[in-house]
Amino acid sequence: MDGPDQKEVVAVSLEFVQQPHPSPTPAERRREILADPGFGNHFTDHMVAIDWTRATGDGAAAPHSGGTWHDARVEPYGPLNLAPAAAVFHYAQEVFEGLKAYRHDDGSVWTFRPQANAARLNRSARRLALPELPEDLFLESLTRLVSADEAWVPDGDGQSLYLRPFMIATEEFLGVRPAHEIGYKVIASPAGNYFGGELKPVSIWVSRELARAGHGGTGAAKFGGNYAASLAAQLEASAHGCDQVLFLDPTRENAVEELGGMNVFFVLEDGSLVTPELTGTILEGVTRSSVMQLGRDRGLDVVERTVTLDEWREGVSSGRISEVFACGTAAVITPIGTLVDGEDSFASPAMDPATSVAMDIRRELLALQTGHGDDRHGWLYRL
Ligand code: PMP
Repeated sequence: MDGPDQKEVVAVSLEFVQQPHPSPTPAERRREILADPGFGNHFTDHMVAIDWTRATGDGAAAPHSGGTWHDARVEPYGPLNLAPAAAVFHYAQEVFEGLKAYRHDDGSVWTFRPQANAARLNRSARRLALPELPEDLFLESLTRLVSADEAWVPDGDGQSLYLRPFMIATEEFLGVRPAHEIGYKVIASPAGNYFGGELKPVSIWVSRELARAGHGGTGAAKFGGNYAASLAAQLEASAHGCDQVLFLDPTRENAVEELGGMNVFFVLEDGSLVTPELTGTILEGVTRSSVMQLGRDRGLDVVERTVTLDEWREGVSSGRISEVFACGTAAVITPIGTLVDGEDSFASPAMDPATSVAMDIRRELLALQTGHGDDRHGWLYRL
């Protein structure tokens, strides 16, 4: 993968201290929230926290090694006690993840490919000179939080509990160097049906002036700065009546990269499933990788390669491209409709749910996540 060399992450076992919330949300209020949670509005009663401290006298070591994870705990969700000089506020040394927990029909709670999120967190961490978190600790952090806040996992159609692990530089220090004190946290937020049941194609605005990432930069990391950098482009998109932004690679003419929070796919008439290759500027989506596998399972020729806007435009007009869609944890798979490029605009073909490859893959992904599919790849993980 991109970024500094992978270090071996030693397995560690930590005792989690339980600090139950003294006054958790009353059950009635919780049920009210779960009836219509929206997205990212409400948070469960607890959070997980684990601290990392760099070993003293380890000045020459790589920034992401030579320290220890300690003080694992499940504590009440609430404001963090951070110094105003905490490095994260000034130099943005942080990374995060996003994945969902789903309640299956028998009441059990499962998540989807969390090992892929653990691996991505560590790739992101290496790029931001943060310590790596051993996979078993990452998985345990999810299990601990979900068992403390089990009652917050909704069971309605399309609902889930969104899990947000993140790592921040907490050291009180002004100076541009990797922080010596780091906090890892996991918070959780109940999430409603993203589309309210209706699958509407998204319209996208091509960002010509503003890029979210550059070669050698942080585009492949799930790093807050990438999202801060995408906001002005998102405002531009909204001002032009579009739902989402499409980012191009400014150094390769018209090369399609990704949306602000989703990867992009094309279904070609010749039976291939095409997605932009990972060049270090695109976030490697867990959904992207699942879609590629489910495409292969269907006998499609899955190809990672450069796709230009010109190929896109020509392909939809000649019929060579039959479907265009975006994918990510939040929305799973969503069709792309109109693309607005300055004064110019064109539409990708409408999807027929009965014959669409994207919709077929979407149905299987949703079935798998909700416990109604054939988990032949071992993607489900019980929390
Ligand atoms: N690209 C970007 C920039 C994203 O923020 C996301 C959401 N994490 C994705 C793609 C899709 O990734 P995933 O399928 O892992 O949610």
